[in-house]
Amino acid sequence: MSEEERVCRRCLLLESGKDGIMLDIRRRIEKLSEKEKASPDVYSSRLGECKKCGFLADGTCLKCGCYPEFRAAFKKQKCPANKW
Ligand code: SF4
Repeated sequence: MSEEERVCRRCLLLESGKDGIMLDIRRRIEKLSEKEKASPDVYSSRLGECKKCGFLADGTCLKCGCYPEFRAAFKKQKCPANKW
């Protein structure tokens, strides 16, 4: 496996170099209503749990296939492994 193909374990999108996807996710999050959106504190706490989670690889949750940076932005979403 080459250096470029290496999977970044416990990396969020922002850290895995997938800037295009992250930009798209930011735009989608900006369009959410305040009613839909998790508070900044909740969002940050959720992503903190993801960073410690063995299912996180290259910015993707291997438990459900989502991008945690997007899933965590929704007030009503839950972690598929009940970590948040
Ligand atoms: S299982 Fe939960 S805590 Fe782990 S990466 Fe997925 S969403 Fe985050």
